[in-house]
Amino acid sequence: MTTVQLGDATPAAFGGAHSTSRGNRHQIVHEMFASGTLDVIAGTGHPGFDNDGRPRAPDYCWFTGAMWQDLTTGTNAGGIQGPGQPWTLASARDEIAAIASGARPAPARLAMVIRADEGHQSYRACDGCDRTTMRPYERPRLETSPTLTELAMAALARLSGGDNGFYLMVEGGAVDRAMHANFLGRAIEEYDEFDAAVAAIVAWIERPDTPADWSNTLLVVTADHDHHLHGPDAARLPFAGLADRGAGQLPGHRWFATTHSNFAVPLFVRGAGALRIAALADAEDRFRDRSGQTFGRGRMTDQAALGRLLPDLARQPVSPRPASPRPASPEPAAAATASAASPAPPVRSDRQER
Ligand SMILES: [Zn+2]
Repeated sequence: MTTVQLGDATPAAFGGAHSTSRGNRHQIVHEMFASGTLDVIAGTGHPGFDNDGRPRAPDYCWFTGAMWQDLTTGTNAGGIQGPGQPWTLASARDEIAAIASGARPAPARLAMVIRADEGHQSYRACDGCDRTTMRPYERPRLETSPTLTELAMAALARLSGGDNGFYLMVEGGAVDRAMHANFLGRAIEEYDEFDAAVAAIVAWIERPDTPADWSNTLLVVTADHDHHLHGPDAARLPFAGLADRGAGQLPGHRWFATTHSNFAVPLFVRGAGALRIAALADAEDRFRDRSGQTFGRGRMTDQAALGRLLPDLARQPVSPRPASPRPASPEPAAAATASAASPAPPVRSDRQER
């Protein structure tokens, strides 16, 4: 699941696609749908809508015409229905929200193709706007695009019914696009939306009517890389932070590139197996420059180590959820977690390129 194209690098990698190039879009999307790995796919790349959510003549950038026909008519001319249950398309926002709220039953395999081309919000029109000063939400968000929270709740409605647990990757993918464009206002919007999705997922885990709790669920929140965004004084003071200009004001900032950085990124974990992830952080960044300034970010691991451990953790049997009503205050399992709310600094991880 992502807020950018459903066959973009991260969802494709998590979705079982294998290709020599990320540019092989039709092949990647075909493989994601047909391989039988996934039960839910979500992102943009709708052939029939532009970046403002307006209907357009079909552009078959991510789906071939035949593959798109498979989704809209239930046939298998393009071969993406594959083995097993058929895919059902949900693209209208109200349809996705209805699945999220439970008003509408989730189909066996759910394809949420947002009615937008490249990003669900971040590419919407901004004619004449100044990217260096424009504040978040100065242009209203598109009402035609579901929020990341709506997408995540619809996915959980579909995935939580089985007996074998599930894995869900939720990417706030559009923050990367806003940062490539050095467009801080839109990047903040995407952070905001991702933050809301994480909060909704935490609330879902803690709700008594879901099969999840912190003893049988692991939540990992991290980034695959950072960008060269620093404070206004960063040319003089290395790594100087953003300057708080007060509520409603764009923070003081300076961009140093339109590409990814190789800075360490935060890694937050909570729930079943969290201690095993915390134990990966066996390195420490204590860097100090010649003038004695400390830039070290503390305990670190690398993303390859995390990537090797996660499938292992997913295969661990988990104890069934207790049938009795759970206490409202922190349950014992929470004591055995490394939480974002804990006073210890978060573990940092090296970025992994893409
Ligand atoms: Zn990028």
